[in-house]
Amino acid sequence: MSEYVNSKENIYFIISLIFSLICYALFIVCSIGIGLVYLLTGLILSFLLHGLLIGNLKGNAVKISNKQFPEVYGYIKDFSNTLNLQQVPDVYIIQSGGILNAFATKFLGRNFVVIYSDVLEMAYEKGEDAVKFIICHELTHIKRNHMTKNALILGSAFIPFLHTAYSRACEYTCDSFATKLIPTGAIDGLLALTCGKKLYTKINITEYCNQISYEAGFFTWLYEVNSTHPNLTKRVKNVIDLGAIQNHDNTNEKSKELIC
Ligand SMILES: [Zn+2]
Repeated sequence: MSEYVNSKENIYFIISLIFSLICYALFIVCSIGIGLVYLLTGLILSFLLHGLLIGNLKGNAVKISNKQFPEVYGYIKDFSNTLNLQQVPDVYIIQSGGILNAFATKFLGRNFVVIYSDVLEMAYEKGEDAVKFIICHELTHIKRNHMTKNALILGSAFIPFLHTAYSRACEYTCDSFATKLIPTGAIDGLLALTCGKKLYTKINITEYCNQISYEAGFFTWLYEVNSTHPNLTKRVKNVIDLGAIQNHDNTNEKSKELIC
């Protein structure tokens, strides 16, 4: 058959191939260049947004110190020492419109913890251990370098469910550490997140844990696998399994006797 092949076919093919390879190489280089531009833009935006958050804290929140909520500062210092943190983090209280939460963050190498004001109000309404648990949970995020590690693995965010699975594992780690240090605050600390700083004392814990089985289903599962935090029903059961002690008497039962 070779005698039928045009004499220029092969040479044109080789020239075309060379040009094609150059185009492919340029495409890859350009893609990397565009990718780098997107990456840098994302990093700069993230840095600016983070900076604004810290600026808001410094300008509007209340910084806890030995002169400002000194008893809370005492817990923070004690737990920081227990966890061998290199520095006591800067802790701020901020008004949150009734939301009960707290979070840890890092900016320019400095660790920050933010406690929403309603969490602290709970401490002054006989929920002291619950607040200690929440503080311990956040300090454990710092101890385990979760913020830095999360930044390092951003590249895996495109793999479905992987990043959130890692985040949920981190949450279980922090719950476990905090339960070990404050076993009497774990259940209340988590229940308060689900039902508020007053109603949490009314929750039937056995029934709440039983929801794990009778409320299981596709969308419950789907919500959780897309969430950075495990479902609260599971977190409560987890701390009970770890030996958390019920700190208030709402069902006339001790957590150890729970079947959940
Ligand atoms: Zn957490």
